Amino acid sequence: MKKIAVIGEILVEIMADRPGLGFFEPLALTGPYPSGAPAIFIDQVARLGQPCGIVSSVGHDDFGQINLSRLQADGVDVSAVSIDPARPTGSAFVRYREDGARDFIFNIEHAACGRITLTPQAEHLFQKADHLHVMGSSLSSDRLVEINLAAAETIKARGGTLSFDPNLRKEMLSRQEMRAAMQRILGMTDLFLPSGEELTLLTEAARDQDALAELLGQGVRAIVHKQGAKGAEYHDADGSVRAPAFPVEEIDPTGAGDCFGATFTTHWLRGTDPERALRLAAAAGALAVGKRGPMEGTSDGETIEAFIKHHEGDV
Ligand code: ATP
Ligand code: MG
Repeated sequence: MKKIAVIGEILVEIMADRPGLGFFEPLALTGPYPSGAPAIFIDQVARLGQPCGIVSSVGHDDFGQINLSRLQADGVDVSAVSIDPARPTGSAFVRYREDGARDFIFNIEHAACGRITLTPQAEHLFQKADHLHVMGSSLSSDRLVEINLAAAETIKARGGTLSFDPNLRKEMLSRQEMRAAMQRILGMTDLFLPSGEELTLLTEAARDQDALAELLGQGVRAIVHKQGAKGAEYHDADGSVRAPAFPVEEIDPTGAGDCFGATFTTHWLRGTDPERALRLAAAAGALAVGKRGPMEGTSDGETIEAFIKHHEGDV
């Protein structure tokens, strides 16, 4: 089986129990929950039984330990997660507003995960990996861009493949270097997983149809366009397939895109046909939005199958 590698932040998330505006008075909070988009992605991959590993850094503290224990228990290779004695594990405090928007207080840049470096353990993981997943939101420093590019080159030189989820909104692209970095990654991408308007974020074309043609024309082999509760669409040179989302109550949407992307990417690597891979991924996304806590919503293959069976006829 092919081994998947990812690089990026490991965090804890601590969330306000009740919705409202930010953190301006003492609040009841629940957490810490294991979190970080790349960590959620790779945990979902592991729960499907696919070999995988993450390159990251945590502090020598309880927040780091709960993440390492969870990832390890689920089957993620954490040999390339370094423990930084001088910095705490990253954290995010989150409170939902009544309208579903979120306020965050992040401690990432100055935490352990803000200092991920290309260690010998990371190089060793890249030498063993068959596939790299790049999380655009993790390309936040020159060093992280360099590590992702080095990994991409190592893995692709050996005939491996690359998937790319931009995972950001337009505001983050104001950094010119970030746009340039994402464009370099896109040039090496086999499977592209944008959400909503991210489809046209890096293309010359402004319309979706033209952007799809442009991306396929420049060497991207497959595109999965995620559209939240509206579902997702798959496109390649042979045509398109659409999968609706499963109708579920949204408890906590954080992590849905990562669980969806991890499930689709794993099945794409296994050669599962796109229609079935999309359906499995939609089920993984729906299961994720039904659980409170970002990484609590990852599922094993049997749970995903049972969910689809239970919801047959719903969509
Ligand atoms: P994120 O906001 O975590 O970055 P994303 O924008 O990358 O996520 P989405 O399009 O929000 O990705 O979600 C991916 C998939 O998960 C959707 O295509 C859908 O199948 C499923 N999903 C997301 N939200 C819901 C929902 N509210 N109900 C049911 N399924 C959902
Ligand atoms: Mg979304």
